[in-house]
Amino acid sequence: MTVITRFPPSPTGMMHIGTARTALYNWLFARGRKGQMQFRIEDTDRERYKPEYVDAIVNGLNWLGLDWDGDILSQFERRDRHAEVAHELVREGKAYYCYCTPEELETMREEMKAAGKLTFYDRRWRDADPSTAPKDVSPVVRIKAPLTGDSIVHDHVQGDVKVANEQLDDFIILRSDGTPTYMLAVVVDDHDMGVTHVMRGDDHLNNTFRQNIIYQSMGWKVPEYAHLPLILGPDGAKLSKRHGATSVEEYANMGYLPEAMRNYLLRLGWSHGDDEIISDAQAVEWFDLKHIGQSAGRFDFAKLESLNAHYIKEADNTRLLDLVIPFIEKKFELTVSETGRKNLLAGMDELKSRAKTLLQIADEGAFYTKTIPYSFDEKARTSLDSAVLMVVKEKLNLLTDFTALNIEALCKDVATTLTDGKLGKVAMPLRAALTGTTVSPSIFHAAEILGRDEVISRLGFAIKTMN
Ligand code: GLU
Repeated sequence: MTVITRFPPSPTGMMHIGTARTALYNWLFARGRKGQMQFRIEDTDRERYKPEYVDAIVNGLNWLGLDWDGDILSQFERRDRHAEVAHELVREGKAYYCYCTPEELETMREEMKAAGKLTFYDRRWRDADPSTAPKDVSPVVRIKAPLTGDSIVHDHVQGDVKVANEQLDDFIILRSDGTPTYMLAVVVDDHDMGVTHVMRGDDHLNNTFRQNIIYQSMGWKVPEYAHLPLILGPDGAKLSKRHGATSVEEYANMGYLPEAMRNYLLRLGWSHGDDEIISDAQAVEWFDLKHIGQSAGRFDFAKLESLNAHYIKEADNTRLLDLVIPFIEKKFELTVSETGRKNLLAGMDELKSRAKTLLQIADEGAFYTKTIPYSFDEKARTSLDSAVLMVVKEKLNLLTDFTALNIEALCKDVATTLTDGKLGKVAMPLRAALTGTTVSPSIFHAAEILGRDEVISRLGFAIKTMN
C-alpha cells in the first residue's frame, strides 16, 4: 500500500505555526514511507476566499521546504463531484431530502430546548413519503446517521475514542443551493485522492465521527487517523498573537532559518528519546505516529532561538550571505555592491558564530556594505574620540602589513601612549568610526576585511563628522 497523506488548509490568511506543523508531519510521514503528500485548498467558503491567502500558504510551504505530489487541488472546483456523491447516497437510501424551512427548524430547536433535549433536527423527513414533498422548496440532503449503538474512532494519538450514536444527528451534506458542506467535501476529496492517513488538529476529532458515517455509507475504507494536540503558548493558553509571532511568515521575516523551524516544530509534539537536534534525513527516517505526544506542546521561543543559532552556525556562508542581503537592503535602504558582498562574506564566519537570527547578522554586518556618508547611532557618536582616531589613522596609513594582528598591536601601542594602556578606549572609537555602531565583531578583523583604503576613508569621514 502506498501511503498517501494530505495537506488541506483553508485559506484564511498567513500560515499559522500549527498549520505548518501539521504540514510537516504529513510530509515527513509520507516521505519516510516512499509515499505521497497531496495538497488541496479547502476554498469552498467563497465569501472569505482571496487568492493571496492561497499564495500565503504556498509561500509558507515553499519557505519551509516542504513539497507535495501532483497539482494543487481546489475543493471548490470539485463541487459537482461532491453533489454527485450526495445524490448517490440518496439513491442508495443512505441519505434523504429534507424540505424543512428555516422557520420550521427554528421552531423545532426551540421546542427541543424547552423539553431539555439535544437541539437536533428531529429527522421528520427521514422516512417521510416523497410524494408529500412540497414543490416550491429546494431540499437539503441529510445523511442517515445510525440511531443506536456507539461509534468508535481508532486514533493513533488519542487511542480509541467512543461516542454514543444518539449524539450524532442527521447532518446536512448538501445545501439547498446544491453546494456541499465541509463534512461531505472533505470525505469525497480524501477518498478520491486515495488518502490513507489523515493527520490533523484534534479540533477536528468531533468531525471525524460524522465523516466516518459518510465513508461507511459509501462503503469506502476509513483512513487511518492521527489527531494532533493543539499548540499552546508558554503560559498554557491557546497560542495566540498575544504570545508573539504565530505565523510562518513572521518567523521568516525575523530571520529564522527553515531548517530551524522544521526541527523546532518536529519536536513540538513528537519525540525521539532525548534528541533535540534532528537533521532532515533523521526526521524522515524516524518520524512515526507512535511518538506523537498526547498532550499539547507549549511554544518555547527561547528554544526556537537556540535551534536557529545552531543552524545558522552550520549554514553555508554564501547561502547566509544571499539570505542576509535582502534584510540589510530593506532595513538600511541601500543596495549592496559587489565589494559589500565580498566583505560581508569575508566577515561571515565571525558574524554567524554570534548570531541568533539573520536579522542580527544583518544588523551587526551591515557596516561592511555601507558607503560614506553613513550615519552614527547615538552611542557610536559619543564613543568617537578625535584625538585617538587621528593618531590611529596616521599610523594605519603607514602600517606595512594590514592584518588584524598588526592592527590590534598598533592599537595597543596607541593605547599605551594615549589612554593609559586601555585598549578599549582605542578600539571602541575605532569601532564607532568604522561601523557607525557600538556592536560588531572584532573590529581589528573587520578593519582587515574592509582594507586599508576604506578604513582610512572611513576614519577621515568620522573625524570630519565630529568637527
Ligand atoms: N481545512 C481544514 C483546516 O484548515 C482541515 C481539514 C482537515 O484536515 O480535514 O482546518
